[in-house]
Amino acid sequence: MTKDYYETLGISKTASPDDIKRAYRKLAQQYHPDVSKLERKEAEEKFKEVSEAYEVLMDPDKRRNYDSFGSEGVTFGSRGFDWSNFTHFQDISDLFGGMGFSGGGSLFDFFFGGQAGRRGTYPETGASLQYDLEISLDEAYKGSSRRLEIPRDVRCEKCSGTGAESGKLEQCPTCHGSGQLSYRQTALGGHFVTVRTCQTCGGSGKVIRERCKSCGGSGKKQTTSTIEVSIPKGAEDGMRLRVRGAGEAGANGGPSGDLYVVIHVTEHEVFNREGENLYYTAEVPFTLAALGGEVDVPTMVSKAKLQVPPGTQPGTVFRMSSLGMPRLNSRGNGDIYVTLKVVVPRKLSAEQKQILKKFGELEEEKGKGFFSRLKNT
Ligand SMILES: [Zn+2]
Ligand SMILES: [Zn+2]
Repeated sequence: MTKDYYETLGISKTASPDDIKRAYRKLAQQYHPDVSKLERKEAEEKFKEVSEAYEVLMDPDKRRNYDSFGSEGVTFGSRGFDWSNFTHFQDISDLFGGMGFSGGGSLFDFFFGGQAGRRGTYPETGASLQYDLEISLDEAYKGSSRRLEIPRDVRCEKCSGTGAESGKLEQCPTCHGSGQLSYRQTALGGHFVTVRTCQTCGGSGKVIRERCKSCGGSGKKQTTSTIEVSIPKGAEDGMRLRVRGAGEAGANGGPSGDLYVVIHVTEHEVFNREGENLYYTAEVPFTLAALGGEVDVPTMVSKAKLQVPPGTQPGTVFRMSSLGMPRLNSRGNGDIYVTLKVVVPRKLSAEQKQILKKFGELEEEKGKGFFSRLKNT
């Protein structure tokens, strides 16, 4: 349904800019929410209505579009009238001598629905991001480099993160750049000046007059960045790698936050890890433990030989020096600790049984000899 802006302002289709200005001034004073006799909500609606008509008819291009296509020619579908490109704000502000609304709001807030007004335009550092990265023990041993796809906000190139179409912030029309507003009051026979932070610009003294078309005024754009992160040799589970500036873009052109990559080292098939040391359990037949011999022990690069001396007891721990993980903040490597697990055979062949029986008998005799020697002393 098209709106009749001429009717709204009570003027003819051939009205001159001066006619329009005069008509608007009268109606704006009548509907200004702070002075209107209407209910506040109704007054606000009316005030917006006449302001919209004024904005369109005062702009030659918009007026031409409106005359040809109706109000659909100057509005944006369901979103309605786009106040963000409201160019005659200064005129309206001047009409009321820069006067705001009661309750701290300003004209600017009113037209922008309080959105742009409350935002402020101070540069702020962007949020930090966290990325959980799983790596293998092998990667932690050798060190590696990973490319991460990070969805994040980056600074809008078009407006250099300012959010303003011109790439520059402009002086706040409410406070004229001071960031503060002073209110003169007379009470108890004296004059008081109250100074308050300007709500329009949040105290920065600067505003976005026309929003950047590329980013819609946020100064940021959603994208997926490929970030290369290098995993140091000896990386430990739970360690955080900081990638400076790889977090979210800052507001109002502020610096980006950081990206924290949290390392999670997956469990290894054969090794348990504690810091720079690795723990391994080697299963050996009881004969090897008794007679001594060589045991193959895996390492992070290939394997090594462990010399087991004769008569080694189950659970004995051997240290294989410098075969563990690289030390994170210094030179060299930790160690591999090998725990010997002596395996007793579950099944024996007839021949093995015979030999072991004989072995048992010999052990018994050795024992007797031992006791008889005790007796003789
Ligand atoms: Zn201001
Ligand atoms: Zn932009």
